[in-house]
Amino acid sequence: MRKAAIVGERQAVVVEAPDPRPKEDWALVKVHVAPTCTEYKGFLGGHVSDWLGHEAVGEVVELAQPGRVQVGDRVVVQPQYPCGRCHLCVVGEYIHCEHNLDPEQFLGSRNGTSTMAQYLVKPSWLLSPIPDEVSYERASLALCALGPTFNACQLTQVAAADTVLITGLGPVGLGGVVNARFRNARVIGVDLNAWRRGRALEMGATAVLDPAEEDLVGRIRALTTRNGVDVAIDTSGDTRAHKLCLDSLRRKGRFSLVQGFAESPVGLGHFVWSGHALFGAWHYNLGDYPQLMEVIRRSDLLDLLVSHVFPMSRLQDAYELQTTGQCAKVLLKPWE
Ligand SMILES: [Zn+2]
Ligand SMILES: [Zn+2]
Repeated sequence: MRKAAIVGERQAVVVEAPDPRPKEDWALVKVHVAPTCTEYKGFLGGHVSDWLGHEAVGEVVELAQPGRVQVGDRVVVQPQYPCGRCHLCVVGEYIHCEHNLDPEQFLGSRNGTSTMAQYLVKPSWLLSPIPDEVSYERASLALCALGPTFNACQLTQVAAADTVLITGLGPVGLGGVVNARFRNARVIGVDLNAWRRGRALEMGATAVLDPAEEDLVGRIRALTTRNGVDVAIDTSGDTRAHKLCLDSLRRKGRFSLVQGFAESPVGLGHFVWSGHALFGAWHYNLGDYPQLMEVIRRSDLLDLLVSHVFPMSRLQDAYELQTTGQCAKVLLKPWE
């Protein structure tokens, strides 16, 4: 098979690798769409790797034993290698599993664990069915494009009466616009990048603001009727954005941190006197998958959420584009 590799600073190529084999209850999946995520950062930094990607949709093509899926099933490949046995896995919160398997140890090789490849192998219980009428491209948005902010909207119970502040309008933040608009909430978006602010407006955001503007908090509050936004969702991981979210929330606001890898120095006292609720959101509960699929079936914003589709043979161009920020979600087609 062919798979993506970063071979140097700003150098991405497609290389040959052996086809992975299914084993026990792990199924072999032919990858039809591999959405790009943060891999371009490794491309910029020259982090040499032939193990790229964590988002994929495809078709089950081979099984080692009969199980939960069948050959021919069209599936969303859920992220990580959770144990499938602990209480978090059992209730659908597998993304927080503390006993993730080491796929390399299980398979005897890393081969088959990257999604930017023509084939991968995955435990069959992490392969969620795609409804017949939903295309692979749209179904691929059930991963990082819509997943984290879908969960944030679930946890903060975003509804039509809410004004939602979304800081960071990259592919995850733009997915947040889709999810909030699907619930008919008003959206205020903030991002440094003018292209992404423009895309959020096209998607129906009420207002978009540049963080360089003066009196950002005052401008946000002026756009609300309750002296602040009802919900704030940060997808940037930037501590200045965390502070902006807190300063812009009305009393008893709900705050969700989607970008989980940055430290936030903001004081927790804020939560006491303001009565806020804070929600950490990563991927969604597996039990919510059918509800997320309704967003994918019915939202008319998805064509704006995906800005580019590249054949994997043009990996270099896809990563170069991502470094400019002039894009929303970018999908790769491993067989083209
Ligand atoms: Zn587990
Ligand atoms: Zn991702």
